[in-house]
Amino acid sequence: MQSRLRADLIDLMLTPGLSGHEERVAALIRAHLAALGLASRTDRLGNLIASFPGDPEAPSVMLFTHMDQLGFFVRKIEDGGLIRVARLGGVPERALAAQAVTLCLGPGRDLPGLITNKSHHATTPDEKYHVLPTTEISIDTGHASKALVEAAGVRIGTPVVYAPRVIELAGGRIAGTAVDDRAGCAVLIAVARALVARAGGPTVHLLWSVQEEFNLRGAVVAAQALRPDIALQIDLMLACDTPDMEDQGEMILGGGPGISLYSFHGRGTLNGVIPHPALVALVEAAAVAEALPLQRSAQVGVLTDLSYVQLVGEGVASLDLGFPLRYTHSALECCDLADLAGLARLCLAALARITPDLDLNRGG
Ligand SMILES: [Zn+2]
Repeated sequence: MQSRLRADLIDLMLTPGLSGHEERVAALIRAHLAALGLASRTDRLGNLIASFPGDPEAPSVMLFTHMDQLGFFVRKIEDGGLIRVARLGGVPERALAAQAVTLCLGPGRDLPGLITNKSHHATTPDEKYHVLPTTEISIDTGHASKALVEAAGVRIGTPVVYAPRVIELAGGRIAGTAVDDRAGCAVLIAVARALVARAGGPTVHLLWSVQEEFNLRGAVVAAQALRPDIALQIDLMLACDTPDMEDQGEMILGGGPGISLYSFHGRGTLNGVIPHPALVALVEAAAVAEALPLQRSAQVGVLTDLSYVQLVGEGVASLDLGFPLRYTHSALECCDLADLAGLARLCLAALARITPDLDLNRGG
């Protein structure tokens, strides 16, 4: 499983898909599903769905992960050819200077660029420790005028992402762009591969969702259409095993998959997930049965689209699953392949435990 996960993850990381522009990622996943003989469909927002009909007496499940990534949109092209951008999503301004970027014009037409950084020899002592906000950064594509930039196909509204990149580190660790959440996408492909061969089990809808980094609500549209009883979401969890993160929690890169017991975000929004206790118990039992380590996360400042999915209809029993990730939202996020393989196994074991007698009643 791990070598396929590795290959799928690398392909997915090298395919750009800014929020609202997920088509190239979706096409890649659709091709994987088609190779498995699986039909898939998309809604008007671009959510990609593959359904596995199962026991109508058992609660139905939507297992989902997002395809999109954070980045920028072109907002202005200066006369001299430098490009100004607006940020999309939680872009870490501290980690932007001198990064390579890709302006997404279409397959075969993408334009390389770089985020400018004032020449060090002219940097004053004050400027050395000053981070520029996204509104003040520029992108240099090498074109020396606005007319040349436009002739290359760049317009206001052109999507921009970190230049897609993969670095294979020691010990099965992979660093690069958009591990959040192409790692989840690769795990979900692994789950699809296994579900093709399953006998029995609940109805499962696999969803690769859109616009998570933009407004966290793309998956809601699919949930409204699918009306699942249970929603399981796959995304990063904060690895806390570097010195700068050690106060945040106990999650360790390479320590296995995780579940979130609490997430909340109060800045600019007000939402989070406190998971359904029956699902926590179910996943804990699945991990024990599979002899998988299961890490626990409880974080303020973290939010996933599950926050909104849980509120659909009469409420959806919800749980966030995830993999530890270092250096989140930077151009070199870092995950561990063994965690992803463990997460795929955990998902499959959890799905197999969803039977008609699973009680989701909160009435006591
Ligand atoms: Zn994510």
